[in-house]
Amino acid sequence: MAEVVLFDFGGTLDADGVHWSPRYYAAYRHSGGTLDFAAFDALFKASDAAMARLPGVSGLGFRATIDAQVQVLAALLPDRDAVDARALADRFHADAVAAVRRNVPVLERLARRYRLAIVSNFTGNLEPCLEELGLARLFVSVSDSTLVGWSKPDARIFAHALAALGAAPEVAWMVGDNVEADIRGAAVLGIRTCWLAPADRVPPAGVVPTARIRELPDIERVLD
Ligand SMILES: [Mg+2]
Repeated sequence: MAEVVLFDFGGTLDADGVHWSPRYYAAYRHSGGTLDFAAFDALFKASDAAMARLPGVSGLGFRATIDAQVQVLAALLPDRDAVDARALADRFHADAVAAVRRNVPVLERLARRYRLAIVSNFTGNLEPCLEELGLARLFVSVSDSTLVGWSKPDARIFAHALAALGAAPEVAWMVGDNVEADIRGAAVLGIRTCWLAPADRVPPAGVVPTARIRELPDIERVLD
């Protein structure tokens, strides 16, 4: 019997299992960028690390987080002069907001039947991001790795989320797009797991989620 449902944020609530790096890359190509994905991805990872150290990041909402990351990223891009940074940020933001809007009615229905929480590797500002996206009201608890002190897949961040809900692992599901962080990490505690991933993504050997979906709305069918 499921009582609580834990969700990842990035790639899970704001897209159908597509991580931030390939989504930023798509927006970058759309905005004039010409690097291949491997080259872009290395710079994107560097921008992620820089974001964690950015002064004032803990107060940034969703759009401001995107604008800040695009600024950090643009400074690293060798082809920055050819890239329309504003268009890049607009594109990424619009796609994310569209996915969130589609997911809100699903989450509203789930929130009437289950207690919902978020477990996310984030930069300490997930709460203001959720507020801005209209999602905060749907979640009883938010575990942001920077604030909690542990990052997925460390089981302690999942234990922290369950403790905040007063729930045992047996009554919980974890829904996420990252096999290593979301699925392997939660499964260690005995939490049932639902992997959100495009149909062509192959899980690494040894990781078997309890369920698999291609779009977040399919979670209702899994939980029923
Ligand atoms: Mg994710």
